[in-house]
Amino acid sequence: MGLIVQKFGGSSVADADRIRNVARIITETYKRGHNVVAVLSAQGDTTDDLIAKAAEINPHASKREMDMLLSTGEQISCSLCAMAVEAMGLPVVSLTGWQAGVQSNSSYGNARINRIVTERILTELDRRCIVIVTGFQGINKYGDITTLGRGGSDTSAVALAASLHADLCQIYTDVDGVYTADPRLVPGAHKLDEITFDEMLELATLGAQVLHNRSVEMAKRYNVNLEVLSSFSGKPGTRVKEVVKIMEKSHVSGIAKDKNVARLALVGLADEPGIAFRIFSLLAREKINVDIILQSIGRGDKKDISFTVAKSDAGEATRILEENREYIGFDHIDVNDKIAKVSIVGAGMINNPGVASSMFEALFNAGINIHMISTSEIKVSVLVDLDDADRAVQVVHNKFFGEVELQSAL
Ligand code: ADP
Ligand code: ASP
Ligand code: MG
Repeated sequence: MGLIVQKFGGSSVADADRIRNVARIITETYKRGHNVVAVLSAQGDTTDDLIAKAAEINPHASKREMDMLLSTGEQISCSLCAMAVEAMGLPVVSLTGWQAGVQSNSSYGNARINRIVTERILTELDRRCIVIVTGFQGINKYGDITTLGRGGSDTSAVALAASLHADLCQIYTDVDGVYTADPRLVPGAHKLDEITFDEMLELATLGAQVLHNRSVEMAKRYNVNLEVLSSFSGKPGTRVKEVVKIMEKSHVSGIAKDKNVARLALVGLADEPGIAFRIFSLLAREKINVDIILQSIGRGDKKDISFTVAKSDAGEATRILEENREYIGFDHIDVNDKIAKVSIVGAGMINNPGVASSMFEALFNAGINIHMISTSEIKVSVLVDLDDADRAVQVVHNKFFGEVELQSAL
């Protein structure tokens, strides 16, 4: 007998039939002799709907009250699922984040789990009770409810798996596993049987929504046995692990796209020491994350610095820099939020210098202009126009994984 943590995303619990389906998966696992802790997201688009509801009342609501509101979505799906398990005649209890002992810091809206006090869950498991825990939420030192950031139920599940020393953490979703690119966007994307933690972390951070990036980070740190699979198909999914057995034929494992990007360019800076320090320390002080940075070669005594931030941070970053125009010394700021980041990820690329140029060739052949480039040992990211982003993902995918064979409908 083992302990299995099973997480079900919003589309897996979207309506009564799907909740019954989830209850069936949980109870079948239980009947095979395992202890089960299930972690559920809010039903369907509930979280988005709650955000819209809040905006109707107060578009500037405090983050604390937003968390109070958003956490309710998960409570609904968990209690409904527990009722479905009850109807199947098995012992079950649903628990909110605080009942389950999920303690977080106080960054409302984007809280991090500090620790999980597992006593209550362990007591329930000892009684051979199925435990269903609300994803996405915790409780801070003031006793307030916090949420973990969009997509955070994955992180709740992995954190529980790590704290409970679970044998397996299964992330059930609406696709069969992790694909070479978003299967809803890219015809011809294929499922990976295995992927390394490092590659998955990059893909998740660079926009592949299938796993919350902090869940992957945590799974790697605590060596959680992680699997992504469909709650509908019953097919084997993708194993995420430290080392994978078979090296993919391609040096690239996957392609990701991130539309939540804006580029800021500071034009007409003095070409002298200390300028970059001034700019980025001001942004760091306000906790604004900067991604790709590009500095032009000096022209006379002037230079430009461009960098990217999350689209949601662009307004705040511009305000801070404008307020400090004298201190930094620049002519003007140019802001472009009609851009996207397209990235290739693969542990195999480090020893294969041709990989980046193959990506650039695919984009060139498609007439897609690259605005910025950034590379690391296992990824290459380019910034392209937002309108080109979907096509860019497709042509780069074709380059590394072959053209899609379009079947005739006739
Ligand atoms: P859940 O509600 O189950 O948490 P999400 O919507 O957060 O599900 O994540 C699943 C979605 O991630 C898929 O429907 C798919 O469109 C998207 N996705 C993006 N990139 C990938 C990828 N490389 N592999 C699989 N799915 C991906
Ligand atoms: N319900 C939350 C969201 O929509 C958390 C999650 O689904 O993981 O972001
Ligand atoms: Mg998700």
